[in-house]
Amino acid sequence: MGVPDDYETASRWIESASHIVAFTGAGISVESGIPTFRGEDGLWSRYDPKILDIGFFMKNPAESWRGIREIFYEYMDAKASPNDAHRFLARLEANGTLDGIITQNIDNLHQEAGSVNVVEFHGTAKRIVCPSCTYETSSEKIDMSNLPPLCPKCGTPLKPDFVFFGEAIPPEAYSRSLKLLENCDLLIIVGTTGEVAPASYLPYEAAGVKSIEINIEESAYTENLSDIFLRERASVACRKISEKLRKRVI
Ligand code: ZN
Repeated sequence: MGVPDDYETASRWIESASHIVAFTGAGISVESGIPTFRGEDGLWSRYDPKILDIGFFMKNPAESWRGIREIFYEYMDAKASPNDAHRFLARLEANGTLDGIITQNIDNLHQEAGSVNVVEFHGTAKRIVCPSCTYETSSEKIDMSNLPPLCPKCGTPLKPDFVFFGEAIPPEAYSRSLKLLENCDLLIIVGTTGEVAPASYLPYEAAGVKSIEINIEESAYTENLSDIFLRERASVACRKISEKLRKRVI
């Protein structure tokens, strides 16, 4: 028996915690086929980010929607299904030790994996809303052959219910996140390098609480916040942790 490695320590912490909160970002969904926006092969090397600027969208809904349809409703939707990292977190919640997930992702994969208490800090692509009235519907029910899709009640161009550049974080997402973080006794950071504010500040709300970080590269949290840094792809790290649990979850 040697010194416990980081995966062993992470497993022990997960076993002894009772209010785990996970904070996730694009890196957890990469292995599910969801491309990232940043970086060399990121979507922003192919699309102009202005299509997701709220001011631009309001003036040019058809042009924005052409890019949005391609990125979020043709490309991402067709390819994506949850991976072991999503499943791992869903099982911890089912076991009663994970209180919830705060995600920056808008891809619905946590819910598809079985997670129930998911705070979608940046909203979701699965819901389409009318900016002028209360109409909302599921993206699957929208006819995207004619863009922009229009509100059947008032005729205003509809908008995906995720946070555009220039839009505020939904207040409810903020308050639910803070509540989760206030009560948590273990924070697991997965697949986020902490570059997008204000989401990036959230982990610091749990300062003083033990934290495990899973990322393929060092992040803003590695030095300042994380007690354990597992440099690994999300699904691989979660499988390795699970193998060391007394009762495997995936
Ligand atoms: Zn409307």
